[in-house]
Amino acid sequence: MSESVYIGLGSNLGNREESLLWALQSLRRIDAVAVRRTSALYDSAPVGPAQPRFLNAVVELECGLSPQRLLGILKHIEGELGRRKGERWGPRPIDLDILLWEGRVVAEPVLQVPHLELHRRRFALEPLAELAGDCVHPVLGSTIRALLAQLEPQDVRRLASDAWPLAQLERIAS
Ligand code: ADP
Ligand code: MG
Repeated sequence: MSESVYIGLGSNLGNREESLLWALQSLRRIDAVAVRRTSALYDSAPVGPAQPRFLNAVVELECGLSPQRLLGILKHIEGELGRRKGERWGPRPIDLDILLWEGRVVAEPVLQVPHLELHRRRFALEPLAELAGDCVHPVLGSTIRALLAQLEPQDVRRLASDAWPLAQLERIAS
C-alpha cells in the first residue's frame, strides 16, 4: 500500500541547490517510491551553532516502504552526498528528515515520526504547508497550517525560483 510521506531536505555546505537536486534524483530512483510534488526553495538562518545559511525544501512521496526502511535509504543518500556520521547540528551538504507520514506515528529510539522538531521549525513547516496545509499532525491534533500560524517569526525566506525543480532536473539528465 502506498502512503503520502513528506521529506524535509536541507543543505548548507557546498553547492546547496545542486545537493538538493541530487537528493531529489536519488529519491526518484528508489523502487516503491514516487516523488509527487515539491515545495518552493527556502533560504533559512541556521538553528543552533553559527554556520552558513540553509537551503530547504519539502517533497511529497508516495511510498510503499516502511518508515524504518525509508530512513535507512535516506541515510544512504546522505552518505553518498558526502555527509559524515556524527555531524549533528553542524554544516552538512544534505540533511534528509522524515517530517510527516500520513496516518502513522513512529516512536522508536532511532526514529520519531512526525519529526519531533517539526512544529518548532519554520524552515520545515512553511514548505510543508505548501503541500500539506490541511494535513493534521497526528500527535498534536492541529493542521500544519495552524501550527505554522502559531509559530513565532523566524528568518526563513521563500525564493522565487519557479524553475525549481523541473528545469534543473532536465539539466542534470542531459
Ligand atoms: P537533525 O536532522 O535533527 O538536524 P540529524 O540529521 O543529524 O539531526 O539526526 C540524525 C538522526 O536522527 C538519525 O540518525 C535518525 O536516527 C534520527 N531521526 C529520528 N527521527 C527522524 C526522522 N523523522 N527523520 C530523520 N531522522 C530521524
Ligand atoms: Mg536529519
